[in-house]
Amino acid sequence: MKTVKFGGTSLADARQIRKAAQIVRADEERCYVVVSAPGKRQRLDVKVTDLLYRAYDEYLAQKDYRQVLVRVGDRFNAIADELNVEIDVAKEIETIAQNIEAGRDYIASRGEYLSAKIFASYLGYGFVDAKDCVFFERGRLNEEKTYDAINTILSRLDRVVIPGFYGSDETGRIRTFSRGGSDITGSLVARAMRCDVYENWTDVNGLLCADPRVVDDPITMDYVSYDELRELSYMGASVLHEDAVFPCRQAGIPIHIRNTDHPEIQGTIIGHEKQKQKMVLGIAGKKGFSNIQIEKSLMNSEIGFGARVLGILADHHISYEHAPTSVDTMSVLVTSDQLKHDRDRLIDEIKDKLSPDFIAIEDGLALVAVVGAGFGSVGFAASLLREVAQAGVNVRCIVAGFSGMSLIIGVNEDEFELCMRSLYDGMIHKGQG
Ligand code: ASP
Repeated sequence: MKTVKFGGTSLADARQIRKAAQIVRADEERCYVVVSAPGKRQRLDVKVTDLLYRAYDEYLAQKDYRQVLVRVGDRFNAIADELNVEIDVAKEIETIAQNIEAGRDYIASRGEYLSAKIFASYLGYGFVDAKDCVFFERGRLNEEKTYDAINTILSRLDRVVIPGFYGSDETGRIRTFSRGGSDITGSLVARAMRCDVYENWTDVNGLLCADPRVVDDPITMDYVSYDELRELSYMGASVLHEDAVFPCRQAGIPIHIRNTDHPEIQGTIIGHEKQKQKMVLGIAGKKGFSNIQIEKSLMNSEIGFGARVLGILADHHISYEHAPTSVDTMSVLVTSDQLKHDRDRLIDEIKDKLSPDFIAIEDGLALVAVVGAGFGSVGFAASLLREVAQAGVNVRCIVAGFSGMSLIIGVNEDEFELCMRSLYDGMIHKGQG
């Protein structure tokens, strides 16, 4: 059995919905369908979810929110008319308008709700409301209760469509995940029903080997393991919601990213086994890091020094990315935005408690992670660094654990793009040709 999830662009209008339906029908194992709200039809279009948020904001500002809801109604009416689906859109929109006080999450969830109703009717599948099977408690997902409920309800039904993105809390109120959260619902359904695969249908051919905003036309990955994907999490604008990986990962269910517009393309499979073929599988990077540099002679023999540094960071609610050390120095890399508020207090506290010989914070750093199977072979790290050196990039720091999966290079922000491109051209693109 398969769980399939369609994203917003895959359900943006009747034409796209027909394609999605064709995909569902092409494989009888595609029993559980999770949907997003209709997304953009073209670049300048507005997503239904954004319209719903706008309606709620207008309501809060005591403006005419009904006018925005009319636009939502128009989107669904056009879809329902063209697909010949019987649904009283006007009545549904009126219900939303009357319940506007139910809150921001309730209003935002109605895009998925109506999208699922229409798609279920068009496919001739059952409809299961996510409020009855996805549960939040104290602001967090209650996984066990959710798996039990999904399993109990879906075991009685053959083929169903379930709205993504939302569930209900202990008081019965609608709660949503963060944006893009329908991916999570799909993963929960796949896990609860112990599916063989979770297919995530979207508008790209798969996960890219590098950020297309930095590298021209990067190739897509055929396969990546869950662990490698985590190492690539600096990739930024991601195809899949990060929290969607965990439920499938725990159950060993592969996630298959595919393109609704090109079902003939193989896509990217995210699975358990580490890939062994690609020396460099992907390169990901991000700007906006700072280094807290701490120096103290005989640091290496002062038991608990590192723990105390990290403890102080924890007290300030700062999470760290990496903490490379030398004998008497410790560098702690953190995202700069976390230092915005109490930077001076943090430094003072480290000075007070640890009496370092030197402490300073340097901003304007970028990290570039290179992930692949190459770390098992002699000379591989040297070849990466040679590419970077030939491009004239100054490597400020290197972090590599024994995982044998990745190497992280710290550079000045103004050399970030150059670093990424030189690694992509030298280590991935060249291998293609
Ligand atoms: N419709 C929601 C959003 O735009 C959730 C989703 O599509 O996954 O974020």
